[in-house]
Amino acid sequence: MNIPITRPYLGEEERRAVAAPLETGWVVQGPRVREFEQAVSAMTGAPIALATTSCTTALHLSLAALGIGPGDEVIVPSFTFVATANVVEYQGARPVFVDIDLATFNLDVAQVERRITPRTRAVIPVHLFGLSADMAPLMELARRHNLRVVEDAACALGTTYHGQHVGTFGDTGCLSFHARKIITTGEGGMVLASDADLGRRMEAMRSHGGVVSDLERHQKGAFALPDHPMLGYNYRMTDMQGAVGVEQMKKLDYILARRRDLACRYDDALGEVPGVATPHVPQGYTHTYQSYVLLVTEDAQVPRDDLAVRLQAKGISTRQGTHAVHLLGYYRQKYNLKPQDCPRAWQAHCQSLALPLFPAMTDEEQAYVIDSLRGMLV
Ligand SMILES: *Cc1c(COP(=O)(O)O)cnc(C)c1O
Repeated sequence: MNIPITRPYLGEEERRAVAAPLETGWVVQGPRVREFEQAVSAMTGAPIALATTSCTTALHLSLAALGIGPGDEVIVPSFTFVATANVVEYQGARPVFVDIDLATFNLDVAQVERRITPRTRAVIPVHLFGLSADMAPLMELARRHNLRVVEDAACALGTTYHGQHVGTFGDTGCLSFHARKIITTGEGGMVLASDADLGRRMEAMRSHGGVVSDLERHQKGAFALPDHPMLGYNYRMTDMQGAVGVEQMKKLDYILARRRDLACRYDDALGEVPGVATPHVPQGYTHTYQSYVLLVTEDAQVPRDDLAVRLQAKGISTRQGTHAVHLLGYYRQKYNLKPQDCPRAWQAHCQSLALPLFPAMTDEEQAYVIDSLRGMLV
């Protein structure tokens, strides 16, 4: 058998949808992107939803529109995808890494306050692998210290925290539609917000910072180019991607249910295996299992790396959960960081293992993964 780590859930509907903009010739951001934004807005409850080229650009747009810049510090978890920290660097600000809670792989909120300085302007909580960060104490802390909050919800479309969709707690929340995420448009992202001024600023900055006032449009007609009162970017999504996104949103309930079912079966089969910790879901949280990530601890029969090699030899693809960003060359060298600076992120870096999980995975495929893994560890 050959079992990939993931496979996007795409079908005839997406194939037909993507052809329509090609036929009409409206290929740049247009009606299909608008429809996709409205579907995500309705589903998450976020009044503002702006499609972007990726979650990385959605995060960057957030920081730029919030005015984060040189001299500022932004708190980020140390165990996340590198993009969470990179966007802080794009703005000339400094990412400050805070360690995680190993039970959830998310920011240890108790450690955040100690890292706040007079320069701290913002915090980027990550809802890693589809599980929410602990938002109530974090938002309380942010209010007390007047920090902006940009949620990295790249993995977390469909994730709730005490009934509220993630990405709607902070100033902005950013989603990814990369092929490894819950739904996909190839590359793609979206930024959620509720403040109208911030929304207008991000909308302008998504498209080169251009603004046409209604008065100007009325007086000069459609030929006039807009003013550019701010620095902007081209972070617009194409209508082909928007069309795919609209179809993916129709399948979201099924995709989420399927992911939960598969995760539940892994939990049941692996929960008692010595040396393996299955994902923990605290009370009041939901998990979308963008990745199903185990911790392979010191007492396991086979260490994580050997396990991954042996599973691959049986045709089963796995991945390290994600990386300890403070140990990646760029950050390690620039800020002189050591593993011990965030020891639990380092441990997760060395011991996490994502198993194959995707909506079209068959029972037979999953049974093969479970039996192979148990055979090595029990
Ligand atoms: C995937 C991911 C990103 C980046 O998303 P892109 O859409 O590929 O830019 C950022 N943060 C986290 C936590 C991710 O998992």
